[in-house]
Amino acid sequence: MALRNILKDGDPTLRKKSRPVTEFNERLHQLLDDMRETLLNADGVGLAAPQVGVLRRVVLVLDTEKGEGEEDELIELVNPEIVAASGEQVGPEGCLSVPGVYGIVKRPDLVKVRAQDRYGNFFEVWGTGLTARAFCHETDHLNGILFTSLTDEILTPEQLEEMHRQEAEEKAQEVSPDGDKQDGKATGQ
Ligand SMILES: [Zn+2]
Repeated sequence: MALRNILKDGDPTLRKKSRPVTEFNERLHQLLDDMRETLLNADGVGLAAPQVGVLRRVVLVLDTEKGEGEEDELIELVNPEIVAASGEQVGPEGCLSVPGVYGIVKRPDLVKVRAQDRYGNFFEVWGTGLTARAFCHETDHLNGILFTSLTDEILTPEQLEEMHRQEAEEKAQEVSPDGDKQDGKATGQ
């Protein structure tokens, strides 16, 4: 495994549409393994292949909405499609490719994704809350869309400070053993 460089906004690759994966080979597995290491190293909740310069429909999403005591799970999605969505959530969203910037984005609160695993097997997965938001955000990356195009309210430095203060407070009150992980994850995708 190796860390890959995360492209930053302004790189034209981030605005391009990614192609479907057709070969579920060693090269794909290497990409997924590298993306996993890169995502965990960056402490984000999701990562799409175009963010590491590969225009293929591959994303990773950390399922942070697991039950108490359950480990967060990193879901590998190849050729993902959002097939159902319901509800609504309005909240701050950030991106590893747009560091330090957060904007208010409206997303569905419940999302169903159909995708293939690294061997080509189809599966479906549901996500709620932050995980639903990450499914939408990462799928957007595959179509060359960044969250900054979807928000008309970028947080000011004062609002950002308030958001981080609230997160720190929630963290201090958090009783679950993985509470400290929850904190950093509300950020980059
Ligand atoms: Zn992103």
